[in-house]
Amino acid sequence: MKLVSVVVPCYNEEDVLHMFYEEITKVTGEMAKEHPELEFEYLFINDGSKDKTLEIFHELADKDDRVRFISFSRNFGKESGMYAGLKNAKGDYVVVMDADLQHPPSFLPQMYNFVKDGEYDCATTRRVNRKGESKVRSWFAMKFYKIMNKISQTEIVDGAQDFRFMTRQMVDAILEMSEYNRFSKGIFSWVGFKVKYLPYENVERAAGTTSWSFWGLFKYSLEGIMAFSTAPLAIASMLGIISCAIAFILMIVTIVKTIIFGDPVAGYPTTICVIFLLSGLQLFCTGILGQYLAKTYLETKHRPIYIASETEELYRSKKADAEKK
Ligand code: UDP
Ligand code: MG
Repeated sequence: MKLVSVVVPCYNEEDVLHMFYEEITKVTGEMAKEHPELEFEYLFINDGSKDKTLEIFHELADKDDRVRFISFSRNFGKESGMYAGLKNAKGDYVVVMDADLQHPPSFLPQMYNFVKDGEYDCATTRRVNRKGESKVRSWFAMKFYKIMNKISQTEIVDGAQDFRFMTRQMVDAILEMSEYNRFSKGIFSWVGFKVKYLPYENVERAAGTTSWSFWGLFKYSLEGIMAFSTAPLAIASMLGIISCAIAFILMIVTIVKTIIFGDPVAGYPTTICVIFLLSGLQLFCTGILGQYLAKTYLETKHRPIYIASETEELYRSKKADAEKK
């Protein structure tokens, strides 16, 4: 028998969870019929939701033994949710998908077909368009992928998503990367392996709202750049060389003007401008350095990536105890 773990990070998903459960069990039921070797477990992660997400996990766990869950002590972010899921999944294959049905479960049978014979280690979807997304957002996303792929050795595929069907081997490789600042798009690509991209048209969220603001996404993209490239650090050296060259030319021009043409050395305003420009550049470069230093600082603390306050095991044993009494 082969076990497939379906990992689903959830943050305030009370509106869609029942719908999601119906869909996923329907699809996996059909898959189990077609491939009798398959068994499934559903591993839900409650990322510190403020709504009834955890209560719904309890309901699902009561009626279905295949449902497992981990509930975080607070919101740690989707990256931590995925890490917790991968770490605790017991399957020979692991699927990571969103709860909002933007990652349609109907893709799973196709994905399994690519992975089952060992031809591929991972099957994932790739957005072919950005329908339903604002123009500004699409523009920034496009620029991000362009810059990222220019300055980083790790290829980040435009439109690639966190919807993945992976083999145990690939999951173990991802878990080896135990960094605190996690940027999954980079991590998935960094570990390598053979990946099959399935084209996919963007689907709207089934219900609820996205937890990503524009600013949040922008910060996330900077995180990504810092996690997988050190190019910004080189900016300081580049700017340094350029301003030295300009200073040298200016020096020669001033000397020549004074000695040969006898022009008086003047220019209080220009001096002020230059001082402002250069000190601005210096602060900018120190800022970049500071960002990397901050990341290094957080990494060296070796804080846990997530903290669980409840799991299905704990919930079930508590319930069994209560029933005995
Ligand atoms: N998510 C999470 N923790 C967070 C934010 C989001 O676990 O702090 C989950 C969320 O429940 C969903 C998935 O990550 O299953 C994707 O989130 P969302 O749909 O808000 O993002 P989008 O699809 O707009 O990128
Ligand atoms: Mg979504």
